[in-house]
Amino acid sequence: ESGVALIKAGTLTTCTHLPYAPFQSKDDSGKVVGFDVALIDLVATKLQVTQAIVDTPFEGIKSGADLNSGKCDVAAAGMTITDERKKVLDFSDPYFDATQALATPTGKEVKTLEELVGRRLGVQGGTTGEDYIKTQVKEKNLKIEVVSYKDLAALQQALATNQVVAAVNDLPVWNEYIKANPGKVAVAAGFDTGEQYGFAVKKGNAALLKEVNAAIAAAKSDGTYDKIYAEWIGE
Ligand code: GLN
Repeated sequence: ESGVALIKAGTLTTCTHLPYAPFQSKDDSGKVVGFDVALIDLVATKLQVTQAIVDTPFEGIKSGADLNSGKCDVAAAGMTITDERKKVLDFSDPYFDATQALATPTGKEVKTLEELVGRRLGVQGGTTGEDYIKTQVKEKNLKIEVVSYKDLAALQQALATNQVVAAVNDLPVWNEYIKANPGKVAVAAGFDTGEQYGFAVKKGNAALLKEVNAAIAAAKSDGTYDKIYAEWIGE
C-alpha cells in the first residue's frame, strides 16, 4: 500500500493538453503516447494501476482547476515550472530542460524580434512562450502583431499557411515538427529562457508527489530515463 488516494480506483488519471509532440500526441491508432506519457507510466506501474489520459485545455491544467476539481490526479503537459503556477500547483522535481525558439518557413528565417515589427508573430495561448513574447514586445516597445492560437496544432497550421511569418514555442516541439515535416520549417532563433518542466499534483497531495519524484529519480539512476529520452527526443 502506497497510501496514495486516486480519484478512480486502479487508475492514475493524467490531465494533458494535446497535441504536444514529442511529450504527448496521438499515434496512428489514436493512443496517446510520448515522453511525458512514458514517464507517468512508470509512476502507474509503481502504484500497480493503469494510466488514463484526459485531454483538456491548458488553462485548466496550469490554473490548478482540473486537479482541484478531481478531473485528474496528475498533470503532465510539457508544463514549465513557474513561480506563478507554484502558487496553485505542487510541482515534481524538474524532468526536462527547455528554451523558447522562433520558427519560420525555411528560407524565410527571421533572427530577431526587431525584424518582426509590422508583421504577425504566432504564439500558443496560455504558455510561457506567449508570456515571454508579450513581455519582450512591451519592454522593447516593438509594434509586432502577436497572434495567440488555442493549441500547438493551430499555431503550426498558421505558420504552414503563412497566417504568421514566424511562431514561438518550446524548442523540443519545433525539433519534433521539423523531423515530421522535413524541409518546411527552420528554427531561426532561440531565446534562452532556461525553463524546466515539472509534473504537477493538487496542492497538498504529498503522497502522490513523493511517488512521482521517486519514479523520476529511479528512472534517472537506472537508465530508463535515457532510454525514454532516446526514444522520444532523440540524440
Ligand atoms: N512549456 C510551455 C508552458 O508551460 C508549453 C506547454 C504546453 O503548451 N503544453 O507554458
